Amino acid sequence: MDLSIHDTAQFRVKTIIKVSTMNKAIKHTISIFIALITMASYLVADPIKVLIVDGPQKAHKHEETTHVLKEILDKTGRFTVDLSRSSPESSADGSYKPEFSKYDVIVVNEGFRSNDWPKATQEAFENYMASGGGMVSLHAANNAWPDWTEYNRMTGIGGWDGRNEDSGPYLYINDDGEAIRDESPGKGGSHGPQHEFDIVVREKEHPVMKGLPASFTHGPDEFYDRLRGPAENVVILASAFSAEDKKGTGRHEPVLMAVSYGDGRIFHSILGHSVKQLRMGSFVTTFQRGTEWAATGKVTIPVPNDFPYQAF
Ligand code: ZN
Repeated sequence: MDLSIHDTAQFRVKTIIKVSTMNKAIKHTISIFIALITMASYLVADPIKVLIVDGPQKAHKHEETTHVLKEILDKTGRFTVDLSRSSPESSADGSYKPEFSKYDVIVVNEGFRSNDWPKATQEAFENYMASGGGMVSLHAANNAWPDWTEYNRMTGIGGWDGRNEDSGPYLYINDDGEAIRDESPGKGGSHGPQHEFDIVVREKEHPVMKGLPASFTHGPDEFYDRLRGPAENVVILASAFSAEDKKGTGRHEPVLMAVSYGDGRIFHSILGHSVKQLRMGSFVTTFQRGTEWAATGKVTIPVPNDFPYQAF
């Protein structure tokens, strides 16, 4: 097109006006975008407060594992983690009393077989959980305190230390995929030699499980079976087949569970006998996501592309 000088000037003016309008719109959009990012990063940056509690137990090395659990949570940038260790002395003299209410979630690591928390501390924990607290029960945590009724309602099922039919039913999944509460008499808790086993996701839409493969291999680890307890309000998120040639039950046993206790949420994982197992990707991702869910009811921590084989 052959533009006259006049037309060219007009064209320039229009173009300048358009560019300046566009600049304004872009600036406006950018400022809204920056505000949203700031808001989002504020929300994301608001860390989940975690307290890991542990105590002495013969079969497990809490001095080693608690440190690694903290490392695994720290790695996400989603949590701030404090540690609290009880002893027979601080339990007996009543001085062991962590401030549970300062935290979004309490991770119970390993066992406390000969170490009952003071009564006031037990009640504080029960109140914290019933009023909407979060808890993670890892591996031998379900061996602890067979006589503390409310604790056993939080873990749902547990093993060893005299647990039997008086503790509550066995809980497992039958071949039709139904959860079975089995009142048969017998001891609670056993495991064969450490071995690899395939974990099958049972609740694909649960926030902790969403995005995980339908099944994945874990181990070698101790595979707890014959766990029993009150088994109330337990959702079996994932199970694994307990092979009889590994001294198992020949049943699909719960591996990952979600339990509700009052308004509280519990993520229960039977995995993680020692530091070696804690560093397996199958443990790392389910523990990180389970802890976030127990604290908030939601999960934002992604499943790594190479799950469950990522190195840590
Ligand atoms: Zn163990």
